[in-house]
Amino acid sequence: MRDSLGRVAREVVGCERCPRLRAWCRRVARLKVKRFRNEEYWGRPVPGFGDPRARLLVVGLAPAAHGGNRTGRVFTGDRSGDFLFAALHRAGFANQPTSVGREDGLRLADCYVAPLARCAPPANKPTRSEIGRCREYLAREWRLLCEVRAVLALGKLALDGFVALLREEGRLPPRKAYAFGHGVSHDLGEELRLFASYHPSQQNTFTGKLTPARLDLVLAAINRHLGRHATGAR
Ligand code: SF4
Repeated sequence: MRDSLGRVAREVVGCERCPRLRAWCRRVARLKVKRFRNEEYWGRPVPGFGDPRARLLVVGLAPAAHGGNRTGRVFTGDRSGDFLFAALHRAGFANQPTSVGREDGLRLADCYVAPLARCAPPANKPTRSEIGRCREYLAREWRLLCEVRAVLALGKLALDGFVALLREEGRLPPRKAYAFGHGVSHDLGEELRLFASYHPSQQNTFTGKLTPARLDLVLAAINRHLGRHATGAR
């Protein structure tokens, strides 16, 4: 059967390959936090989200316990998502600056967002084996998103995970190193460029390590690479 983004999403949502992560997500969904105690948590793995014809692929690490694990959409319902989607909106990749729930009307244009690991991990840290196990889903999305020419890795783990994926696909040589740094980018050949940014975690945004202006600079470089103007989609 031919693969599709819908099929990947359905398989992600039903995935039970990582017992530690599945148990954690269910536990968080059952216990909740006080401010969301009246909400029904998603509590399942979180699929990728966005435009099937995207030229920009944004790679994050994993859903947040009370963000994606609550709302069922990546970078949705937490401060990291507020920060990221406001920036994507300013750069012309999102129709609105907020991301609060699956039915909030958010649409991405020319952009697809996907995490490396699809289940919220304890302490926001999936293990190497959990990331490796989950990479199959990102690899399948990568093959289906045929128009991607820019990849934005949010954090070093996302960059390393995406590079590992391309190596597994035979697209990159095994040994060459790809350094991480905010604003760093790498030419991967065939018009594909890998961009890096600090992750929009509260740890980075509250301390000023990542500011809106710093993320805007990276997205402006991506827009230049794609030959886009920030005000609109294709
Ligand atoms: S992290 Fe990925 S592979 Fe592991 S259970 Fe969740 S969806 Fe499945």
